[in-house]
Amino acid sequence: MTTVIDGKKVAASVIDKVKAAAQGLEEAKGVKPGLAVVIVGNDPASHAYVGAKGRMAKECGFNSVQHTLPEETSQEDLMRLVASLNDDPSIHGILVQLPLPKHLDSEPVIQSILPEKDVDGLHVVNAGKIAAGDLETGLLSCTPAGSMVLVREIHGKDLSGLNALVIGRSNLFGKPMALLLLAANATVTVAHSKTKDIAALARNADILVAAVGRAEMVKAGWVKPGATVIDVGINRVPAPEKGEGKSKLVGDVAYAECAPVAGAITPVPGGVGPMTIAMLMANTVIAASRKAGHTVPSF
Ligand code: NAP
Repeated sequence: MTTVIDGKKVAASVIDKVKAAAQGLEEAKGVKPGLAVVIVGNDPASHAYVGAKGRMAKECGFNSVQHTLPEETSQEDLMRLVASLNDDPSIHGILVQLPLPKHLDSEPVIQSILPEKDVDGLHVVNAGKIAAGDLETGLLSCTPAGSMVLVREIHGKDLSGLNALVIGRSNLFGKPMALLLLAANATVTVAHSKTKDIAALARNADILVAAVGRAEMVKAGWVKPGATVIDVGINRVPAPEKGEGKSKLVGDVAYAECAPVAGAITPVPGGVGPMTIAMLMANTVIAASRKAGHTVPSF
């Protein structure tokens, strides 16, 4: 029987821990975790994500602040806002929603966030700590951290002897995911657009992680029987069966055909997606606890 990994349920238990940690911090130190989310422009998907993050931050008992900047915001104005949030002691986490409008360069903006407030885990200091094997003192990129929590649900903390394949090598996901799997003792391969015969590599993987952005690319014949399949992809595709002009979300894994072969698999939606936002909340309460010199929760 295939285990369907319920990301919503696991995320809800992370959120319960976050709430308890936030309450404990406020009682002990009088500090409320502060999360500032910055959004530039009018992209509807980005606004939906930012809205969800703000609502969740409030639900966790945080001080939730949203800065909505117009499409034509200059690089200087955006950098100035980040600098003011860096200086604001009531803000412990800063997230700049990506992608930014085309005329803005996201890299200098992300790198200008203080590493200790970089709750998205994208600053080179935080990326470098993962690369150096330090998973304790920095902030982990949210989606890989959340995916690891799901892997742990199936395999526990120690992945010794297991082969893992990560398809995708982005700084946002593929690279940190590979490093987290490595830190957990998995034997890790990273595939990308220049890799030859990914299917053969996949068939050798006990843990198969797909983060490409190509709808249902991973087929049943790629999956090692009994493998754990983590589908990070979010792709909107036409769904004429739901009515004319309708669409639906699918992952990078052809779920219906892969699920019977896998030992455990994440659905899309309802798998990795809910974990990303939960780990953002976790990072914010971690950052606030560190700043206040309070016990730092682990997730
Ligand atoms: P990205 O920056 O576009 O990276 C995609 C990666 O896939 C690249 O490394 C690329 O290789 C590789 N790739 C592209 N075509 C390929 C092919 N035919 N075969 C093998 N590899 C291929 O994307 P990302 O930010 O990592 O995100 C990947 C997916 O995850 C997207 O669908 C995104 O929406 C989703 N995502 C979901 C969450 C969540 O919360 N669930 C969070 C983040 C991302 P090269 O490096 O060689 O170009």
